[in-house]
Amino acid sequence: MHSTEEEAREETIRMLNVYADFCENVLAMPVTRGRKTDKEKFNGAEETYCVECMMHDRKALQAGTSHYFGDGFARAFEITFTGTDNQLHYPHQTSWGVSTRLIGGIIMTHGDDNGLVLPPRIAPVQAVVIPIAQHKPGVLDAAGELLKRLQTAGIRTKMDSSDKAPGWKFAEYEMRGVPLRIEIGPKDMEKQQCCIARRDTGEKAFVPLAELESAVAKLLDDIHQNMFAMAKKNLEDNSFTAETLDQVKEITSRIGGGFVHTKWCGELSCELAMKEQAGVTSRCMPLKQSGTTGKCPVCGKDCTTDIIWGIAY
Ligand SMILES: [Zn+2]
Repeated sequence: MHSTEEEAREETIRMLNVYADFCENVLAMPVTRGRKTDKEKFNGAEETYCVECMMHDRKALQAGTSHYFGDGFARAFEITFTGTDNQLHYPHQTSWGVSTRLIGGIIMTHGDDNGLVLPPRIAPVQAVVIPIAQHKPGVLDAAGELLKRLQTAGIRTKMDSSDKAPGWKFAEYEMRGVPLRIEIGPKDMEKQQCCIARRDTGEKAFVPLAELESAVAKLLDDIHQNMFAMAKKNLEDNSFTAETLDQVKEITSRIGGGFVHTKWCGELSCELAMKEQAGVTSRCMPLKQSGTTGKCPVCGKDCTTDIIWGIAY
């Protein structure tokens, strides 16, 4: 609750940016910041802002929303406050949230045919140490030493010394999306090295034991950057501009989703026609508007608003 509209609007945008920052810099999910149309906004809100993400199947997910309510709910529920002028006023309200849908978003943005791919910054286990030929003398101790060093360095690490075969363990931690797998066996011990495999690319590299902590920290950071870049490429590769309803239809049916950018006249009837004829809903009007004039793909009227259409979860 805020005493002024200005403060409440500032808070609404601040929270939108908090969500955008969290999605991009923690979850490695690129976002498009925008505002919802009247049809798609929260009932009773004056404005609904959102961060929209594209999943790897090219469908859209509204990853978070931030609403400016004005004083409508305060009036409806007779919520008042005494202002500095000693008079009663209705406060201006905001409401914002992200939910467990973000967990679905992580899975659907980054997952692949082998299972989960977890962004390193939220992975509960960032690295798993797997001893190779662990019955041989010294292997378990060497693997335990790696575990201890990484944990001391603040990296969320676990070791699997169960008697399952290494191949079984590899597949299991791949499916669970653990960003790094660290193998050490008798040959590695001789060479004072370990083998580190990345979940995102499948690449393997030998790392001198002396450089373990710094190499793992750098790899975790590289994985975050790469996962963000891959998701961004998916977003860019599947974003299109259309001028006619037929083009929107063609792109959407060919891509099975995608983000289709058009102009929009602001009429509900044109928004509904998009849904009925092209099977898409308006995702958002991006906060960054081009300012150019074009034609609404449905009615053909000149208009300036940029809007994004897609198939949403
Ligand atoms: Zn129109």
